[in-house]
Amino acid sequence: MIIFGTRGVNSTMEQGHFNCPQCEAQKPYKHKKVTRFFTLYFIPLIPLGKIGEFVECQQCRGTFIPNVLKYQKDSSADAFLSQYEIAMKHCMVLIMLADGIIDDDEMLMVQKIVNKFGHNDVTLDELAAYVDEVQKNPEDVSTYLKKISPSLNEHGKEIIIKCAYSVAASDGHVDDTEVAVINEMAQVMEMSSSHLKGIIADMNENNEPSFSQN
Ligand SMILES: [Zn+2]
Repeated sequence: MIIFGTRGVNSTMEQGHFNCPQCEAQKPYKHKKVTRFFTLYFIPLIPLGKIGEFVECQQCRGTFIPNVLKYQKDSSADAFLSQYEIAMKHCMVLIMLADGIIDDDEMLMVQKIVNKFGHNDVTLDELAAYVDEVQKNPEDVSTYLKKISPSLNEHGKEIIIKCAYSVAASDGHVDDTEVAVINEMAQVMEMSSSHLKGIIADMNENNEPSFSQN
């Protein structure tokens, strides 16, 4: 008697690390597909087509729909971007407030920077409302910067310092109080003082070309 039938066989399409919803941590996963095979004496011989796909956590062995990967990549990028945007806006407003005077040029510079590096454009009115908010509740410069700092490379940190310096310089002079805030920002991002000095010397030499108003 010939014993035949069909059976689903799993094969790994892709693997990597993902944020497992069940473990609530970064864990290795395997993205598997299930193919139906024609079997002869229980041996899968002929693939008959794909039945489905799933993602399996290699830690807890929990299985999830493939979208679990897509959703995670998108949401972590989005989360970082919005954190970055908040940190950038908050830092620039603190710099603007550092000398106690809110200059029109400073407002325009902050708006320009926030809109250049964020993905939600702010109007001057919205920015003014945010400045009010920060004035009433001036959180430490580290509050938001600390959250994004570990994800920033040297270039990313330099951009923030350069932007801050552009805001400080936009009213024609950089005050000690503004320098103090910039120093604090550099400290939060764990930049060395020589690195910071180098960036500022660079900007003075080149008359801050990247962010000057033209
Ligand atoms: Zn897991």
